[in-house]
Amino acid sequence: MDLFTQIKMAVSVKEAAEYYGLKVNRGSMICCPFHADRTPSMKLNEDYFYCFGCGACGDVIDLTAQLFRLSPADATRKLAADFGIAEQKPSVLVKLKRGKTQVESERHCFRVLRDYFGILQDWKDHCAPQSPEGPIDPRYVEACHMLERIGNMLDILISGTPNDRAEVVADLQKDDRLGLMEERNRQIREVAYEQS
Ligand SMILES: [Zn+2]
Repeated sequence: MDLFTQIKMAVSVKEAAEYYGLKVNRGSMICCPFHADRTPSMKLNEDYFYCFGCGACGDVIDLTAQLFRLSPADATRKLAADFGIAEQKPSVLVKLKRGKTQVESERHCFRVLRDYFGILQDWKDHCAPQSPEGPIDPRYVEACHMLERIGNMLDILISGTPNDRAEVVADLQKDDRLGLMEERNRQIREVAYEQS
């Protein structure tokens, strides 16, 4: 990722304005530094500014460049120095990587759970007791016990909030439950294949 993008992701227009001494009011308005402005007419949004008085607009790099009469490249370097972006580079990358790993973990959990769910459905359909007196197949018991729970977890992974999804993933990663479940799924599939 280039430094421009990194700065724009890390520093909002408002943060830069405040850091460089512009007084931001509660509506995120400031007196425009680029024309004689007596009442705040410049609006600061997260990633761009716009002045209703003189029409000045741009992103955090433009704001810094115009404030200090710098080229965009120099303004970028100034922001990097002032906000410690260069030093934070590794941590920003770690954060991005963590985000990616989270998505991968969710996909992994989903695959294992869906596999197990399919096995449980099989068992529920094929291992039900044949008569009230007959022995109860433990696989049928497990299916009755687990189907709804696993179904709920799958629902959360499909349509839950990021927090809920993260909770499911954390729960499955505890004591390597996911790894054990995956291994067991594999063994069940193998036995079923040998028997068929
Ligand atoms: Zn203005």
